[in-house]
Amino acid sequence: MKNCISCGMPLLKPEDFPLGDESKDYCVYCARPDGSMQSYEEKLEGMTEFIIRTQGFAPQAARESARSLMALQPAWKKI
Ligand SMILES: [Zn+2]
Repeated sequence: MKNCISCGMPLLKPEDFPLGDESKDYCVYCARPDGSMQSYEEKLEGMTEFIIRTQGFAPQAARESARSLMALQPAWKKI
């Protein structure tokens, strides 16, 4: 089983992969509409909005939280 290298989500079903392509190492939520992986900034924006929406964090706190979550993932460890 693979996990998304960008957000850590388990990749279990074909629908979890961008465009259903199981050779990819990232999930559909970390992909652009064309199936390529989102950049760090794009993903950070998306996660920040997600945390604000789901956990009611203030924008600054949500951004910090998104940054530390992403730092745990292989794709962003070196950033
Ligand atoms: Zn992902």
